[in-house]
Amino acid sequence: MGFDMRKQLLTFRACIALRWLLVAAVCSLLFAVACGGAQNNGGSSGEGACFPAASVVYPGTQSVTYNFNVLHSFAGHLLPATPEGGHPYAGMVMDGAGNLYGTALSDGANYFGTVYKIDAHGHETTLHNFTDGTDGGFPWSLPVLDNDCNLYGTTQNGGAGGYGTLFKLDTVGHLTVLHAFSGADGNAPRGGLIRDASGNIYGTTEFGGVSDMGVVFKLNPDGTYTVLHSFNGAPEQAGSIRVVHMHGELFKSRCDRCTRTPFHDTTTYDPPIQMPRCDCGGRIRPHICWFGEMPFELDRIFRALDECTVFIAVGTSGVVEPAASFVAHVVERARTIYVGPEEPANASAFTECHLGKAGEMLPDLFGSF
Ligand SMILES: [Zn+2]
Repeated sequence: MGFDMRKQLLTFRACIALRWLLVAAVCSLLFAVACGGAQNNGGSSGEGACFPAASVVYPGTQSVTYNFNVLHSFAGHLLPATPEGGHPYAGMVMDGAGNLYGTALSDGANYFGTVYKIDAHGHETTLHNFTDGTDGGFPWSLPVLDNDCNLYGTTQNGGAGGYGTLFKLDTVGHLTVLHAFSGADGNAPRGGLIRDASGNIYGTTEFGGVSDMGVVFKLNPDGTYTVLHSFNGAPEQAGSIRVVHMHGELFKSRCDRCTRTPFHDTTTYDPPIQMPRCDCGGRIRPHICWFGEMPFELDRIFRALDECTVFIAVGTSGVVEPAASFVAHVVERARTIYVGPEEPANASAFTECHLGKAGEMLPDLFGSF
């Protein structure tokens, strides 16, 4: 098991670099979507804008005509006296009378999003303003309706644990939290919900669960919540259950003063004035190890190094300490192997260097053990 742990440990730095790339890619994508959305959502003066009909005619077939109407243009806080929701990211559901229901990710009276209703004439009614308290905040997913027009949905933040909620909104606007996610049982439910004929509700969370890689959950009509599946991620996906994230985890935050457990957090705080405070008054910061800071769990790491008989480093520059010296610590008694596209700076410390792509080299290497 110790062998596995070090393998994962040394791939971590490569993983975190990959994560930054992913973050950059996602940011670019979001930016593109935001720009596209700004153009597409226009609707400058609000409700009722009407556009010319487009007609498509194929010889020998029917003619189909579509009219495009803007039923409602969300104003958020552009109307300060009567703020409504903004950025309705999730789709909508329709009841038998043609009313549309959905959630707006942001704005509303408390800035934490809303549940809204649009009637057939385009009139918007805000059914609930989220507070980011026990009721949740920032609803992201597509809700569902039951046969009595109760609405079920999720928020990705807030709730008793701060990991999001699964809520029910009845027809008179009363909101009940059916489940507050705890992290271990799910975190940040952002996918849509589905409801079967028996009234069971199913959904997913983006994070949380055994490996913080998300879960599939089920909520019975009697309120019983069950995790049906907990996703494993890399490096946990390989089956390692004792991974040490010595440089922390990018998608977690912690308090810079007290000892509260690091928690999942993908929020971007900009400008810095928005940096939140912990209940203790400390500042919330990324749960990562910056240059000059002490990596986590070094005691545990060196205990494992003292016991190991096979040491594999995957994709490291071999420059950054203290990780660059781990191989020197074990070289007297362990088989030391490097795998990566080019030689690391500390290549001479390894007994074997396998140059190539890890995804191609490692299966053969492990198969030879
Ligand atoms: Zn604190």
